[in-house]
Amino acid sequence: MPIATVNPADGETLKTYEPMGEEELERRLQLAEATFRTYRLSSFTDRSRLLLQAANLLEEDQRDIARVMTTEMGKPIRQARAEAAKCARAMRWYAERAEELLADERPADADVADSGGTRALVRYRPLGPVLAVMPWNFPLWQVIRFAAPALMAGNVGLLKHASNVPQTALYLEDLFHRAGFTEGCFQTLLVGSGAVDEILRDERVKAATLTGSEPAGRAVASTSGEMVKKTVLELGGSDPFVVMPSADLDRAARVAVTARVQNNGQSCIAAKRFIVHSDVYDVFAERFTEGMKALKVGDPLEEDTDVGPLASEQGRADLEELVDDARRGGAGVLCGGERPDGPGWYYPPTVLTGLTREMRIHREEAFGPVATLYRAADLDEAVLIANDSPFGLSSNVWTQDEAEVDRFARDLEAGGVFVNGMTASHPAFPFGGVKRSGYGRELSGHGIREFCNITTVWHG
Ligand code: NAP
Repeated sequence: MPIATVNPADGETLKTYEPMGEEELERRLQLAEATFRTYRLSSFTDRSRLLLQAANLLEEDQRDIARVMTTEMGKPIRQARAEAAKCARAMRWYAERAEELLADERPADADVADSGGTRALVRYRPLGPVLAVMPWNFPLWQVIRFAAPALMAGNVGLLKHASNVPQTALYLEDLFHRAGFTEGCFQTLLVGSGAVDEILRDERVKAATLTGSEPAGRAVASTSGEMVKKTVLELGGSDPFVVMPSADLDRAARVAVTARVQNNGQSCIAAKRFIVHSDVYDVFAERFTEGMKALKVGDPLEEDTDVGPLASEQGRADLEELVDDARRGGAGVLCGGERPDGPGWYYPPTVLTGLTREMRIHREEAFGPVATLYRAADLDEAVLIANDSPFGLSSNVWTQDEAEVDRFARDLEAGGVFVNGMTASHPAFPFGGVKRSGYGRELSGHGIREFCNITTVWHG
């Protein structure tokens, strides 16, 4: 895949980049290692000042960087600006809380005595240069979600961004430099995915985090496994959205539309499978389909566009193939399902019914605005359908019944259970999945500690 900005709204190649050669990579790895030696000794106060400055700069740049993101990957411009604003908030959150999140911990006196010691503490120390392999779908957010805690913990970052968002990738490196971080604290490695293996094998790289597809995750995890390096994997999702009879159906149907089509349907935590109790299935299906039909699909740079093009021609072909496979297997199409003529990689909001376990879309991730509707006879069947997926990222449940909430929170195989609302990440809450959605957590205290050397300091 070339490293290039190709506008998904018309397929035009706007800018191409030569991948960095071996010499340049070597220079950057050396710089990362050398920078870490001093940066790790910096105070939380200094790191915090730099990160707050980066947040301020990002806010100033919000309109410009939003246009870059939209041009590179097609998200509606309002959502691009909101992404930039969210990144600034997350940077501030970590700038203000990292010291407390990484404060020394003191085991109980009785346990210290039991160990034969007089004093003990647990200290969170940085690991070193961490490689971040990142996807194009939230080209700023995915990176900031890694970089803000990593830099506050005293690590330095090496970004290998997706090949279709090079301008955003270079912007991020520039942002941290302008904020005052020394050059080696955060560097963008402009390389294709073929270069990742060698970088991972380099002794100077201490750990890796990958957000992306399952094959990419498997590749990075297996090399890291060989090299015995810590990894965090944030992979795909096919989140269930369960609607029970006591739910506020109007609101559930409205939020369901947003939860499915946010980011043109290309979000790992988008609700993808809508599992509705049979008592309210018909009403929900009608309102949801009406909502999907009413969306404005078009130029993502227009302020009132709800759904823009998919990020790549291949992405649209993959989605189309999932829908066609379901249709061949007997699925019904309540709306959408036909790609429009004309330039750009558009695909309409689509709702499918009559799904069976044999259909690919039942077990694969639909990365675009395509929803699948399932009818469940009762709560037990809703849980069964929800868990009948290789993925386990997050989940949404709609009910007013606390006993049902308890059941879902106990039984859904996912890293999140969002009740009467859609899944959204927030710096205060851990984010990540189970099953083939990956492992490890980002955000919150859990996220910042993933790339720390958790050190026991014991006194006899
Ligand atoms: P992708 O094709 O896996 O790419 C992600 C990153 O991995 C890119 O930088 C890509 O580089 C690199 N990559 C691909 N194959 C690789 C390999 N064999 N070895 C090393 N690196 C490799 O995924 P995507 O299409 O950009 O993103 C969509 C996927 O990401 C979806 O499955 C989505 O659900 C998932 N996602 C998960 C989360 C989460 O938090 N769990 C968040 C967002 C997205 P190139 O671009 O150069 O190929």
